[in-house]
Amino acid sequence: MSLNTALPQPMNLIAGTWVPPQSGRQMAVVSPLDGEVFAAIADSDAADIDAAVAAARAALEGPWGALSAAERGRLLMRYGAAILDHADELAAIETRDNGKPLAQARADMVMTARYFEYYGGAADKVHGEVIPFQRGYSVHMTREPHGVTGHIVPWNYPAQIYGRSIGAALAMGNACVLKPAEDACLSILRLAEIAAGILPPGALNVVTGRGEVAGKALSEHPGIDFISFTGSPEVGQMIQIAAARNFIGCTLELGGKSPQIVFEDADLDAALPVLANAIIQNGGQTCSAGSRVLIQRPIWDALTARLAERFTAVEASPADGSLLGPLISARQKARVERYIAEAGAPVLAQGKVAADAPAGGFYVAPVLFGPVDPASPIAQEEVFGPVLCAIPFDTEAEAIAIANGTQYGLVASVWTRDGARQARVANAMRCGQVFINGFGAGGGVELPFGGIRKSGHGREKGFEALYEFSTIRTIVNHHG
Ligand code: NAD
Repeated sequence: MSLNTALPQPMNLIAGTWVPPQSGRQMAVVSPLDGEVFAAIADSDAADIDAAVAAARAALEGPWGALSAAERGRLLMRYGAAILDHADELAAIETRDNGKPLAQARADMVMTARYFEYYGGAADKVHGEVIPFQRGYSVHMTREPHGVTGHIVPWNYPAQIYGRSIGAALAMGNACVLKPAEDACLSILRLAEIAAGILPPGALNVVTGRGEVAGKALSEHPGIDFISFTGSPEVGQMIQIAAARNFIGCTLELGGKSPQIVFEDADLDAALPVLANAIIQNGGQTCSAGSRVLIQRPIWDALTARLAERFTAVEASPADGSLLGPLISARQKARVERYIAEAGAPVLAQGKVAADAPAGGFYVAPVLFGPVDPASPIAQEEVFGPVLCAIPFDTEAEAIAIANGTQYGLVASVWTRDGARQARVANAMRCGQVFINGFGAGGGVELPFGGIRKSGHGREKGFEALYEFSTIRTIVNHHG
């Protein structure tokens, strides 16, 4: 059965074929561009998750589990190439479903392909170890797949996070059951359909539905051996509790309130576009969005004036070349607007919503606030919208304290020409990734990514993700 890209069938992909949800229920899909219903997806429940977990288990015991690492890698690389071949079609689906500008959606597809190229190439390079032990023994350690892995992903970068999560899991030889977010999952369904033409049946299963029903059923399923969750801290906690009840491991990729620290000697021409893009891109709906800019007082006036100019020029619009599209949903728009209304800080600049943006779409003009009290809710909580908090500081120690002064710890950056300060401040950041004179890594497929505290734990990307999706077996041979 073929998936019509304009109006997908409300089906799940289980054991390599499209199957309707057992209850027959479906959910409407709304486009953020105009607020119109344009498709339907399966509103699945525990019965569909059961079927998907059983299909994954059968794949492990069947053709998928029988493949060598090199054969798995070859299939994943072939899948990456197929994604590139379909990049334009996939990007068009993503823009309609998620609202992100077409250029961003296309870049997401190239990055999604990159995950399968990278992990396809890595599949046969995960070595074990030989461990010196007592005389008369030979000991070796191997990395084994967990088995059936559950994956729950959000709506902000559906395709990329799908690739990031299952790319590494499949490369290690796990069989996957993935539950996408109800607000944006059509690109994932099409990606899974392409995968079904390449991977053995059941290696990858995708079941759509509501978080509190299908997502909960997956996280609590006794048949999964590991779970990878990307989403909000609140749901992340529930996932970890469910994993504990099943005695399995989990990775949690949660939110952030990532700071960029700009010292008075920084190259402001280089910093300016990066500071603005880090919060405008994807409407600020990025876990690693640079949502706080800490500015040393001597350059406060100059830098905030230049940032204000940038913010004022941005128009939220559905146009192909737009920097800022709509937010994901009416609910998210209302949430962001509530944060803006209750910020309690001076507005330094505000962009616009384009005159031709459809009235039913979920557009929000970007806002630059400053000076913001670092202890205030707008500077502490994740807004997940195009809202930047500018915070002044005097000393390096004060900047470090403010940067580390939230419950999150995902990404940080330091802008300075002073080499010793670069090293001191980078080493003082309590988070998973630190950039020096830059921010974000254009996807950074190779770079371990993840957080501490309320940003979660475990690492995606790079070889670290392969280790997360594996368990160690040590074989002790007493040969005398
Ligand atoms: P969310 O936690 O509401 O939803 C994420 C996923 O969890 C969705 O698929 C949803 O259906 C599912 N879900 C919801 N309730 C569930 C439940 N009770 N049991 C099981 N699954 C459930 O988050 P969101 O609104 O989709 O995404 C926004 C959040 O995700 C932000 O906080 C953002 O920072 C975070 N995020 C983090 C990263 C990262 O890599 N660290 C990436 C993207 C998004």
